[in-house]
Amino acid sequence: MGTYQRIHPQVQEGIASRKAYLVGGGIGSLSAAAFLIRDGHMPGRNIHILEQSAVYGGSMDGAGNAKDGYSARGGREIEEHFECFMELFGFIPSLTNPDRTVLDEFRELNLAEPIESHCRLVEKQGTPADFSSLGLSTAHALQLGKLTLATEERLGSVTIEQFFDPSFLETNFWYFWRSMFAFENWHSVVEVKRYMERFMHLISGMNQLKGILHTEYNQFDSLILPLMKWLEREGVHFDKGHEVTDLELSMSGDEKVVTAIQVQVNGSPKTIPVTRGDLVMVTNGSMTENSTLGDLDHPAVLNRSVTERGCWSLWEKLAAKSPDFGRPEVFCGDIDKSKWLSFTMTFTDDEIVFPYLLELTGDAPGMGGVVTIKDSSWMMSWTAPKQPHFINQPDNVKVLWAYGLFPDAEGDYIKKKMSDCTGRELLEELCYHMGLADRIPGILEHTTNVIPCMMPYITAQFMPRVLGDRPQVVPQGSVNLAFLGQFAEVPDDCVFTVEYSVRSAMMAVYNLLALDKEVIPVHPSKYDVRVLLTALRTCLGNKPLPLDKTLGELLAGTVLSKMI
Ligand SMILES: Cc1cc2nc3c(=O)[nH]c(=O)nc-3n(C[C@H](O)[C@H](O)[C@H](O)COP(=O)(O)OP(=O)(O)OC[C@H]3O[C@@H](n4cnc5c(N)ncnc54)[C@H](O)[C@@H]3O)c2cc1C
Repeated sequence: MGTYQRIHPQVQEGIASRKAYLVGGGIGSLSAAAFLIRDGHMPGRNIHILEQSAVYGGSMDGAGNAKDGYSARGGREIEEHFECFMELFGFIPSLTNPDRTVLDEFRELNLAEPIESHCRLVEKQGTPADFSSLGLSTAHALQLGKLTLATEERLGSVTIEQFFDPSFLETNFWYFWRSMFAFENWHSVVEVKRYMERFMHLISGMNQLKGILHTEYNQFDSLILPLMKWLEREGVHFDKGHEVTDLELSMSGDEKVVTAIQVQVNGSPKTIPVTRGDLVMVTNGSMTENSTLGDLDHPAVLNRSVTERGCWSLWEKLAAKSPDFGRPEVFCGDIDKSKWLSFTMTFTDDEIVFPYLLELTGDAPGMGGVVTIKDSSWMMSWTAPKQPHFINQPDNVKVLWAYGLFPDAEGDYIKKKMSDCTGRELLEELCYHMGLADRIPGILEHTTNVIPCMMPYITAQFMPRVLGDRPQVVPQGSVNLAFLGQFAEVPDDCVFTVEYSVRSAMMAVYNLLALDKEVIPVHPSKYDVRVLLTALRTCLGNKPLPLDKTLGELLAGTVLSKMI
């Protein structure tokens, strides 16, 4: 999309009397509110964000204090071509300096402290593993090529392990890929295809995480707080403790109109009437729904409820009303295939862990990104983020974050399933793999807390699916209803990203308000021949390609030879 398209839409007649009800308080709804105000010219006071809990930000959480320990369910890998995300934070003022935007500060941080891992993989209790190459054979590269050529329709619900040769799943490429993006082998190969194409420009730097961006603090403090502050200033209503239980719809022929929203407000039922001109946007499904926390002495107990599960329950009710509203069971129907566990560790006056990690990895906190333990039965990875990781974190406190993709496996040091482990046991297993087993007592003396978080639906968005399982952002015939977030269909973009939720919000707002403004296209890496060739070379171990010679001869002395 060129600058020509970056216009400011006209103020629409009647917008001042229309209302918007955004269900769920994650980045999907928060960004929808921001686009409604900036592009749709809707007064902030007309917008209500209905959130079941007491906290906004949804999956982008981050909370705690130095005494009880900190917790963040996740940390986000962001990259330059999160186009809608960058657009959003390009107009949200920074928390500390109203003359700067969040994007200004974010970019400055990443220019000054770029991520470039010098120790992406470890094995054998704290030994850096060779990560210089992706370990792909020509046959593996051909399989990747076949994947990019296949259509999504053709691939259907094929899984990763059905598509790839078993030897592919043992390559460094796959270790890097799955631990960065949290793919399990039983997940959808279509999502791998989208990731391959969407992030093709990152493949050459993948073994060092080049091109991955980080925020100053955890993303609640660095992104959600300034966004909420701006929305509050604009007069948006934050209706906390509002659990939406159903929507009333009038349906005739193809047409679908929301007429009321049913809500439980602190246990009491309430009905919000909705007119045809109002907007309702629902985050249908959440990767962190029903997540539970433990602590140093208690595991995080898996919540298996299938009757009380927030936006999943709401989506199930809506899906029963129309086939255009998708099939939630495809994503939330098998918790054992979508769950895993992360844990946040808080240390006070630590003199062992952080100095040791600096020596082991060669990377200052925040500048190394994720480190994966190749021989961990739990498939564990850790990240030492930039410190302080929380706005209120004192200097003598340090926060480390880790996760494991196989919560049902027994540990290598702690002979228990990961999901049954207390925070202490998770830390002990991690210390063992880092090469710190003999220093565990000293580390525990300075451990304030380790907070495990069990997330039953953390990879629900990667479950094998076919077209139609996710509803369209604005379903066929919908007059005033849109779906937001990871479980609405956003063509070409990748789930398990903030960008996907923000993009869905932009699509919903522009479409329902019929704005004369284009949604920013997904970055077209895969159509750039330079990116394609670089990715191909990287996959083939940076050896000359068979076509190099022919192309070289053909293009010798032309401008194209320089380009390629
Ligand atoms: C561990 C982890 C790692 C991640 N890594 C990355 C990464 O590397 N890169 C990246 O880009 N992204 C990453 N993400 C994903 C990113 O954080 C999410 O895609 C994004 O935050 C989802 O936002 P959302 O608004 O769509 O949904 P959510 O943030 O899940 O929000 C849903 C909200 O709806 C509320 N709700 C549910 N039911 C109801 C109801 N009935 N009524 C009212 N409210 C309701 C919930 O309480 C919640 O606040 C990660 C997430 C996690 C958890």
